[in-house]
Amino acid sequence: MQAFFDTYVLPRNREWHDHVVKRDEAAPFMRELQSKARAQGLWNLGLPELAPGEPGTRLSNLEYAGCCEILGRLAWAPEAFNCQAPDVPNMITLQNCANPDQKKRWLAPLLEAQTRSCFAMTEPDVASSDATNIATTIDKQGGNYVINGRKWFSTGAAHPRCTQIMLMGVTGAVKDKATDRTRRHSIVMVPMDAPGVRLAREVRWMGCRDHVAPIGEIEFTDVRVPLENRLGEEGDGFKIAQVRLGPARVHHCMRQIGLAGLMIELMVARAAERKAFGRAIIEYDTLQRWIAESRVELEQAKLITLKCAWLLDRQGHHGAWREVSLVKVAVPNMLQRVADRTIQVFGAMGGTDDAPIHYALSYARLMRIGDGPDEVHLRQIFRMEAPPIWKIDYSPYITYPMSG
Ligand SMILES: Cc1cc2nc3c(=O)[nH]c(=O)nc-3n(C[C@H](O)[C@H](O)[C@H](O)COP(=O)(O)OP(=O)(O)OC[C@H]3O[C@@H](n4cnc5c(N)ncnc54)[C@H](O)[C@@H]3O)c2cc1C
Repeated sequence: MQAFFDTYVLPRNREWHDHVVKRDEAAPFMRELQSKARAQGLWNLGLPELAPGEPGTRLSNLEYAGCCEILGRLAWAPEAFNCQAPDVPNMITLQNCANPDQKKRWLAPLLEAQTRSCFAMTEPDVASSDATNIATTIDKQGGNYVINGRKWFSTGAAHPRCTQIMLMGVTGAVKDKATDRTRRHSIVMVPMDAPGVRLAREVRWMGCRDHVAPIGEIEFTDVRVPLENRLGEEGDGFKIAQVRLGPARVHHCMRQIGLAGLMIELMVARAAERKAFGRAIIEYDTLQRWIAESRVELEQAKLITLKCAWLLDRQGHHGAWREVSLVKVAVPNMLQRVADRTIQVFGAMGGTDDAPIHYALSYARLMRIGDGPDEVHLRQIFRMEAPPIWKIDYSPYITYPMSG
């Protein structure tokens, strides 16, 4: 991966920017690059359950972490290997929750990079960090579901090649509030061109466009899909979303580790090249401290990310529940601090489109909200904090009498 990245991907970065960012057109070399990567076995690397006969190379989560660290250095690099979000977590969901017919229809084209997908859960009208609030209706009518609602922040929905929406909503049969709040939702697959689906607008985040998977706001008005488009059973929506969210969160962290490493390199290079008040900027204590602190924080974050990937390999999502939340909080906060220092070291240039630093900052900021805000994960982590078996009064660690 490193050799391929250095030889074929990184040298095209300026060309990619010229086409995609400046001219708003697809990178003309992407198909050729994908074929080359695929021929070298660098294809669909983020799918530890890749079945025999499916295209790509099956890697463990831990092995994939190393690849993601390399890919994370460039926003667009994952696409060359069909490793981009949100398609990879959507593929994982389909691998785990789709029946053979559904796999043929929805998964196969994604594995081949013939199409793109999005995951539509968040809604503008409800606090979506509490997914039990999700209110889009999926009503059963004869052999169809009829969908009504509005989604936003559906990453990838505004991509011109996005043809499939993995949508979460409330299923008619269990819409009454008395039902367990986590059993009211289901997930259905919706073709992007189904009558009643309207891409209302492309959403920008912190003033930036996501060029790899442009974010969409989508309206659903009396959209009909056959019952066969439902993944799993009615009421399985939460269970299925968890299958998707675990890997989605960890993959983002793996890429952010690579991006943070790049930030440190940029800081070192820039500070060594510029002089202010008679000295190279890198000679100032403050700079050295920022760089060293960034390295300390990055290495810590990297280790818990690798531990999380290792646990996912051994015990699946349920065994890595706590670690997924730990990395989900630790890594974006680390990247935010490191990117912030990098902007400072670069001076004015740090915030321009010429450098990838504001991308790193907005990616970190996004990941402190997307896939569950920090606060929600911190609450989970707190709840898993088991109290010790002793009370303070009788603790063997307390050596003065507290009472009596
Ligand atoms: C760039 C980007 C891409 C995204 N991509 C997707 C996507 O592809 N698909 C998708 O469905 N969604 C996507 N999201 C949406 C994201 O998952 C939601 O924004 C997130 O779940 C929070 O929901 P909300 O925006 O409705 O915030 P709200 O639920 O309104 O929460 C707002 C704030 O309330 C506070 N809060 C919430 N719960 C608690 C708590 N328990 N304790 C303390 N404070 C709390 C937090 O500070 C939180 O940030 C994306 C978001 C961004 C920014």
